[in-house]
Amino acid sequence: MRYSEMFLPTGREVPSDAEVVSHQLMIRAGMIRKLTSGIYSYLPLGYRVIRKVEQIIREEMNKAGAQEVHLPMVQPVELWQESGRWEHYGKELLRFRDRHEREYCLGPTHEEVITDLVRNDIKTYRQLPRNLYQIQTKFRDEVRPRFGVMRCREFGMKDAYSFDADEASAEISYEKMFTAYNNIFRRCGLKFRPVEADSGSIGGKYSHEFMVMADSGEDAMVFCDKCSYAANLEKAEVARPEKKKINDKDWLTLENVHTPNVRTIEEVSSFLKVKPQDIVKTLIFNADGQSCAVLIRGDQEVNEIKVKNYLGADELELADDEMIKKATGAPRGFAGALNIKVKVIADYSIMNMVNFVTGANKEDYHYRNVNIGRDFNIESFTDLRIAEQNDKCPRCGGNIQFARGIEVGHVFKLGTKYSKPLKAVYLDKDGQEKTMVMGCYGIGIGRTVAACIEQNYDVNGIVWPMPLAPYQVIITPVNVNESDVIKAAENIYAELQASGIEVVLDDRDERAGVKFKDADLIGFPLRIIVGQKNLALGKVELKIRKSGENILYPLEKIVPTVKQIIAESLNPAAK
Ligand code: ATP
Ligand code: MG
Repeated sequence: MRYSEMFLPTGREVPSDAEVVSHQLMIRAGMIRKLTSGIYSYLPLGYRVIRKVEQIIREEMNKAGAQEVHLPMVQPVELWQESGRWEHYGKELLRFRDRHEREYCLGPTHEEVITDLVRNDIKTYRQLPRNLYQIQTKFRDEVRPRFGVMRCREFGMKDAYSFDADEASAEISYEKMFTAYNNIFRRCGLKFRPVEADSGSIGGKYSHEFMVMADSGEDAMVFCDKCSYAANLEKAEVARPEKKKINDKDWLTLENVHTPNVRTIEEVSSFLKVKPQDIVKTLIFNADGQSCAVLIRGDQEVNEIKVKNYLGADELELADDEMIKKATGAPRGFAGALNIKVKVIADYSIMNMVNFVTGANKEDYHYRNVNIGRDFNIESFTDLRIAEQNDKCPRCGGNIQFARGIEVGHVFKLGTKYSKPLKAVYLDKDGQEKTMVMGCYGIGIGRTVAACIEQNYDVNGIVWPMPLAPYQVIITPVNVNESDVIKAAENIYAELQASGIEVVLDDRDERAGVKFKDADLIGFPLRIIVGQKNLALGKVELKIRKSGENILYPLEKIVPTVKQIIAESLNPAAK
């Protein structure tokens, strides 16, 4: 492509809402433009990168035996009512009516539509397993769209759905996708990690998120420095501590102390001169309308996802003042496990505590010297807290490391969550009707591109890894008005094009400095500089964007050299 003919508006200006580097650079390099909140257009350069990611995904999905389909984006209310999600999905689901007052939504995901398709056409075990995927636009009315195409409202996703006859077969389908995802993100040139993720009511280890490592990432994750354990912080397990032998002779007399207006852990700690570690925090939650008390050590934080899963609740939030009053008989700040009327669950962190402080379920009072087994009982302790810096690996006891990441993909074993309500059934060998077992697998296309930039940039702009680069090479004639210079540049351009190399010829009549700046900003991995002085010696310069190296090559060597570098970086094994 000739630069002079391209729609490639580069610039210095960044909008004030562009908080992260990838967003700024995608605007500055002329890849995207915002239409309205969370809704973006891809310009030619940006769309080329999107197509590259899609191509890698298609190749790996096809290799894994999945078949491409294309499902409608507009989905009827009836299907969503059948799955029960019309009620539950909340405001991210954009709902609307047609001229006949029929209700629809814009698909934020496609479990309902694909399950409907499959249930109508798959009837027997002989037609299973199947894995169908699409690359298509999703709409989610995100509360706070941000970071450009990283968290937007309209975005491209690759979503795949597997249908199997039984659990064992579903596990194989899951493993295939897990492997395909590793291949996809490796081929994109990303540094990433699959981490265990929350799978809600499905449970087990059957959900992994693929995280691109980046400090700007919205997700926190932990990984072990010894074994392969890695998990989203939401899911990160905390090992059960050893139960210490508690001697009841150490138990001091229970005291009810007046603590006027002393409510928070900090206030209690300074008023009673005890450490937060000596206080048991009692949080009242509203779990599907029922109140439940969660006990945890004063210096630690409850992981609400763990509480929600433990209780098997659909909705969980901290109780409001009214519910607290009803549950404890006291206003907020004085809850405790003694004589409380609601269900109590306790984190491991309080298992070995003795003579601790808790609220007294009475306004302006706390108890001191509380002991489990004497003052109240706990049936079983469980893991309800957020993992911390000093925790040990729950698998091997190694040290836990913390990192931040961007979730670019998610593989999820669904079980019969959708096939059951939507009645996706088949007849097995014995003619028995069985429910299909499903999995779903998503990759955010635009987010993958943005995440790649988060890992590959410098002060001058983007530094594309070869596999995702919009073009692999730019040829920069230093002065287009010198006929031998432009002629040599044109020859190299023609030769590279004939070899199938993706190349831009910067034929603009601009100062070299301007052209170099744009080339660095856009991030072409290779730049061939054709200048009068070197040309007189029969040479041209090759600049490697990533390393900053400048190497002179004889004119006749430049095309084979560039071809070789590209081939090696697209297929590192061939090196
Ligand atoms: P998040 O927790 O980041 O909102 P999610 O769990 O809702 O993601 P999934 O439903 O698993 O995401 O969707 C699959 C993939 O789609 C994600 O891994 C991500 O790459 C992409 N994705 C999800 N929401 C957005 C969004 N608002 N903008 C861009 N990509 C998105
Ligand atoms: Mg989301």
